[in-house]
Amino acid sequence: MIKQVKDLKILCIYPHFRKFLEGHTELDKHLKKYLVGNYTMPPSLALPIIAALTPEEIELKLIDDNIKEKIDYDEKADMVAISCFTPQAQRAYEIADEFRKRNTTVVLGGIHPSTAPNEALLHADAICVGEVEPVWNQILEDCASGNLKKIYKPDKTYDLASMPIPKRDIFKQDIYKWNAHLVLTNRGCSVRCGGCPIPEKEGTRVRLRPIDNIVEDIRGMPYKEFYFTDDTIMLPGKKYKKFILNLMERTRELDVSIFVASTMMMISEPEFYKKLHKGGVSSMYTIFGFDRISSKLLSPDCTPQEWQQGIDLVRMIEDAGIHFFASFGIGFDYQDERVFDTILKFTEDSGIDLAEFYIITPFPGTPLGIQMEKENRILHRNYNYWNHGNIVFKPKNFTEQELMDGFYHLWKSFYSDKEEEETLRSFTLKV
Ligand code: SF4
Repeated sequence: MIKQVKDLKILCIYPHFRKFLEGHTELDKHLKKYLVGNYTMPPSLALPIIAALTPEEIELKLIDDNIKEKIDYDEKADMVAISCFTPQAQRAYEIADEFRKRNTTVVLGGIHPSTAPNEALLHADAICVGEVEPVWNQILEDCASGNLKKIYKPDKTYDLASMPIPKRDIFKQDIYKWNAHLVLTNRGCSVRCGGCPIPEKEGTRVRLRPIDNIVEDIRGMPYKEFYFTDDTIMLPGKKYKKFILNLMERTRELDVSIFVASTMMMISEPEFYKKLHKGGVSSMYTIFGFDRISSKLLSPDCTPQEWQQGIDLVRMIEDAGIHFFASFGIGFDYQDERVFDTILKFTEDSGIDLAEFYIITPFPGTPLGIQMEKENRILHRNYNYWNHGNIVFKPKNFTEQELMDGFYHLWKSFYSDKEEEETLRSFTLKV
């Protein structure tokens, strides 16, 4: 039936995903004491961005499956829009299939459908590949006129200056208990780390969001704490350095606390980190394993000089007043069973007091995913377990049991001698 766009009713669904320590009962008792792994992040920014792009007159309802909001498959809607990344894909497909059985139109988007489009198309009337902003209004128009295409893919990357302020009030404040939110600073990345889908989904050209827009976004929220979602701004290039320092000049006026993400490919200048701290950066979540610096640190052929450089960088950041939160990856082909002791020794030598440990996951479309598929090493495609807490591929230099034992060993050993306050303080931004 042909409708006017303004008369559309859309259900926007955020599928449940298994959190990465979920089901590891062996760790439950041990970690409970420290509340490690109990922290939660706000849902994807894609949802409030879609809400902001949708004309006011359209009825748009968000259902977050993660907080057990009921999905009524018989509810009448012109379109069900589902955004998912890989750990949500299984559940997204189940939900999509149920709606489609009832002849409700389903559109899938997000990282997973963008990197596994042929698979996603088996469960949807249409998919959005890549960024949603340039095509969302077209999807709405085509849905209203009954002419939905199979694939919506922008022909050029989106100019972040046009990005609306995400409409975060789509999240019901009485249900969500965060006192922090995600803020987008840029899109795209040219580095292509083995396990990261960002270059595939957002392109390899880095686009920076205008600083005025970021500041306006932050000012518009009732919080004092924020997560910058994109680690690219910490890369050691002049362009990024200038951008983040200019941004810090503005955020320091706002008296906020910021959690940034990075790889170990970072600037090695104490002054730089002091400026970040003044700008409000309180924590730095740093992923180890994929980039060339941290992969050296975790490999058996790391030289004493490289080891020391890694330690110096951690100390430089901590000395600037920024809490270093390390996230160590295990299961790489360049590692063997020695990696578990190497990681623990690095945390000890560098004084890291907050860490998590993850098993690498070969997400579709990433260099790691492509390699594992080519070498026929994927064990299964139950995406509920593609969440960094389970082994879903055949490791090269470990048995699966050795890798899982090593995962438990790391969590238990690292936290065995930590003071409760040391760990607890770090899972919120309030230090
Ligand atoms: S992990 Fe970060 S630096 Fe590496 S490809 Fe992804 S966005 Fe780029």
